[in-house]
Amino acid sequence: MADHRQSAREAIRTSGFFSDDRIASSKQFVNPEQPGYVGFANLPNQVHRKSVKKGFEFTLMVVGESGLGKSTLINSLFLTDLYPEREIPGAAEKIEQTVKIDASTVEIEERGVKLRLTVVDTPGYGDAINSKDCFKPILSYIDDQFERYFHDESGLNRRNIVDNRVHCCFYFISPYGHGLKPLDVEFMKALHHKVNIVPVIAKADTLTPKEVRALKARILEEIAQHGIKIYQMPDCDSDEDEDFKEQCRLLKAAVPFAVVGSNQMIEVKGKKVRGRLYPWGVVEVENPEHCDFIKLRTMLITHMQDLQEVTQDVHYENYRAAVALGHSGPAAVSAAKEGQGEEKDKILLEKEQELQRMQEMLARLQQQMQQQQTTQVAGANNVQSHHV
Ligand code: GDP
Repeated sequence: MADHRQSAREAIRTSGFFSDDRIASSKQFVNPEQPGYVGFANLPNQVHRKSVKKGFEFTLMVVGESGLGKSTLINSLFLTDLYPEREIPGAAEKIEQTVKIDASTVEIEERGVKLRLTVVDTPGYGDAINSKDCFKPILSYIDDQFERYFHDESGLNRRNIVDNRVHCCFYFISPYGHGLKPLDVEFMKALHHKVNIVPVIAKADTLTPKEVRALKARILEEIAQHGIKIYQMPDCDSDEDEDFKEQCRLLKAAVPFAVVGSNQMIEVKGKKVRGRLYPWGVVEVENPEHCDFIKLRTMLITHMQDLQEVTQDVHYENYRAAVALGHSGPAAVSAAKEGQGEEKDKILLEKEQELQRMQEMLARLQQQMQQQQTTQVAGANNVQSHHV
């Protein structure tokens, strides 16, 4: 044992990782100038270093009818061209079109921090004449990611799981309607227990500020009326500074975010800005007085961790609970089919038994009636013979 320790010390010494003095005696790990200092104050730095080294993973899903500006907004948000070779189908192709799921992953690096961003687009959503079931492929995509994670988590290589679970879903609402459409309600109701939904009013530059306010109020009212649970930003801690508290308040008040997207840079007052040029002026995407684009981006960046935590602690837990109860997962599908068969057999058996019981009862009744009749006839004969 002593030999082992000796050789381990030797190995550390020769590796040059620690100086000889530091290995010589464990007493020297104690800082003599700060005897009460253990060193765990350094833990956040370790966590920080580890997270930065590992990088971050985030999956964002965008859902909404085609043409609402989803791709433009995503490109504007992350300053990348996520859809360089996109083909837009014509009306004829859209008639029977089913929803496709397109996942594109980009690695973005900013000041040494890596973000592996996956954007899941859902082309074809709401395009077909009958859009009744168009959210089903989206629903099963989300479940498939949970299932994959669940499978990886119970496997051997648990440390290197790639997390493809959908952490947030931007749901694009048309600015041309008078609130939510039936499909919007159906979609959100079907998915609110599986994913963090962030409602977004598309192409807000087509509305006046007054119209934006009215549409926002209407949408929030309808969301409450239908019992839809959209993503709720967490409350600030009371010890946060006032600026942060104010930022949280403004972000919460901006829901549903009314956004404008553009891939064009325009010169305004000598500065190049991302915007949309109209004969009457420029709509600046990153100007908070023109739209909520910056608020949406701030919400996403500052709450990325929370969106992941809610996905893990609420939505994924719901999935795991459903699997445990046999209500979800592949086993559940076959079990459901088998279960349906079993259930039918059980009902048939019960009906047969009931029928048999009734037939036996009928036979007994008939027997009793026959017995009664024979005793009555015998009684009558006795009476007659008595009279005679
Ligand atoms: P997607 O099908 O939802 O991905 O929509 P696209 O991003 O391809 O945009 C469809 C059209 O709408 C394009 O002509 C865009 O230039 C335009 N567009 C995108 N965003 C906006 C916006 O915020 N306001 C306006 N007015 N038009 C937009």
